[in-house]
Amino acid sequence: MSSKHVRAAPELRKLVDRLIEFAYPELRRHDFFVRWKSISAFAQISWSITDRTMRIECDKSVRDWHESQKLGLLAHELSHPATAGYLNKEEDIDLDVIDRGLGTYLAIERISAGKHEDHWLNRKRDRYLGYRSIRSLLERHELSQLDRLLKGQQLIPSLRTNPQEPMSHDISVASSSGDTYVQLEGITFTLDEADIEGEFKLVIRDGTAFLYVNDVVAAESELPD
Ligand SMILES: [Zn+2]
Repeated sequence: MSSKHVRAAPELRKLVDRLIEFAYPELRRHDFFVRWKSISAFAQISWSITDRTMRIECDKSVRDWHESQKLGLLAHELSHPATAGYLNKEEDIDLDVIDRGLGTYLAIERISAGKHEDHWLNRKRDRYLGYRSIRSLLERHELSQLDRLLKGQQLIPSLRTNPQEPMSHDISVASSSGDTYVQLEGITFTLDEADIEGEFKLVIRDGTAFLYVNDVVAAESELPD
């Protein structure tokens, strides 16, 4: 582990502890650590299905986000292992965050993530819910909480959704005893090795998605028509 690119993140750790305490009781017995790292997404969550360990990494670009936006991002990450599967769609993960009463933070996070409208993935097989969709799913008291937060933080939801985002939203990496499932941009890759650590990148060429791990092609997946 290079100390230059990886830093412990006690501030994020406190936010994760709070989320687990109040909204993710099923993760209380997990061992986990949280760190800052330069990655090709805002966040990456890696967990083991067999031994209850979990690692959350946030890209340094997230450092300047408001606390409520970090909570939204971290809640989305925690919902990946908490939904008990490893092939859940990003849309279902977002809905799980909202069901747990954290939709306000998710909505506010989507402002920083540049997603005012839904962000479709994998040729419309999946999507990240945009700020507008999340708003429409919130209860009345959550909407007033959201408006209070926006006002307090002087955030103005931008109508512009950046279609060519420089980075993915998040990467989820689930390990079982013999396989690793990596999901990014709505595409799932299966690798026949457990506990893969490294830098994950997605490249799409001629209708095929390639997953690079540490700059080497590790898996590929045909995109649907
Ligand atoms: Zn996700």
